[in-house]
Amino acid sequence: MRIYLDHNATTPLCSEAAEAMMPWLTAGLAANPSSVHEEGRAAREAVEHARARVAEAIGAGSPKEVVFTSGATEANAMVLSAIRGHAVTTTVEHPSILDAAQARDAALVGVDIDGALDLLELDDALRFQPSVCSVILANNETGVIQDAAAIRERCIARGVPLHFDASQALGKIKLDVRDLGCDYATFSAHKVHGPTGVGALWIKSGAPLEPILGGGHQERGRRAGTENLAGIVGFGAAAARAPALLDRMPAVEALRDRLWEGLSALGAARNGDGRMLPNTLSARFDGCEGETMLMALDLAGVAVSVGSACSAGSLEPSHVLLAMEIDEEDARRTVRFSLGAGTTTAEIERTLMLAAEIVPRVRVAAA
Ligand code: PMP
Repeated sequence: MRIYLDHNATTPLCSEAAEAMMPWLTAGLAANPSSVHEEGRAAREAVEHARARVAEAIGAGSPKEVVFTSGATEANAMVLSAIRGHAVTTTVEHPSILDAAQARDAALVGVDIDGALDLLELDDALRFQPSVCSVILANNETGVIQDAAAIRERCIARGVPLHFDASQALGKIKLDVRDLGCDYATFSAHKVHGPTGVGALWIKSGAPLEPILGGGHQERGRRAGTENLAGIVGFGAAAARAPALLDRMPAVEALRDRLWEGLSALGAARNGDGRMLPNTLSARFDGCEGETMLMALDLAGVAVSVGSACSAGSLEPSHVLLAMEIDEEDARRTVRFSLGAGTTTAEIERTLMLAAEIVPRVRVAAA
């Protein structure tokens, strides 16, 4: 029996999404939603039904505000590439924002040791009247949730359009784009038990956005390319389950807290503090390389991830942890546990039992 504690990387496809997608994957049914014939009109109807479901799940004012993309990466790229001029973002973004930000020399606002955005630094950065400010609402590595109201207030005061990368927030915390008060928000289907390769950019009515791809006039001219029909239908079905996921979160949070209690008894320290996602635990173990822990847990049947990105064979410590002034050694010792709506008590107790055996063994091996 495998224990999957890597839900921030991706979540298993739910049966509702799989069932909704199946007819559109079956030979003979799929059609181009732009085609005017009966088959095309049925496909269009399916896309618009999914759009309404996603709009409802995120609290959009109208389904027209939802633009389907190939995932959160593309939605982020649309915001960072299409809005010209000076951009402001943060040091703890997902690489899909950071790479685009670095390419255009954006200002990066830092965070404190708990992972919360430095609001004074944000004030300074906004003074230069950027054309967009982009902030990760809930961090994928640490689970830290930013103070959306404080950020919104500052952006509104300066008249700066605000984008939240909310990919990790949907289904985990109560979320309503109108309450967030932003102009743009990014979502990804596979973080909420939908399929990979599909996401959405929510664009508030009236907010400008130039398409980054040339071609067809799909998505009201905002995203060219034939729609990922089955993927979009699956996203719609998964998004409709967001309230059910949310209902599970108090139980998930209790399990995450139990995991933390057990791991801290083994000498673990925790990264990030304050308001956190209920499912995420970023922990480090003295004397244990995160990568070694990951492999030992994997061999024992538990899937987790490390807070670092592997590039060209060399392991780089996580930029998110370094931005929180966690030193390189501690960053390399970090393991991320991310629970899901289906995680059980038995799984957490077994993980703790295995960790109690693995942590001392890895420590001895490293000594
Ligand atoms: N933003 C955040 C915060 C994420 O966690 C991820 C996925 N790890 C992405 C963007 C990219 O999402 P996708 O895989 O849908 O491109």
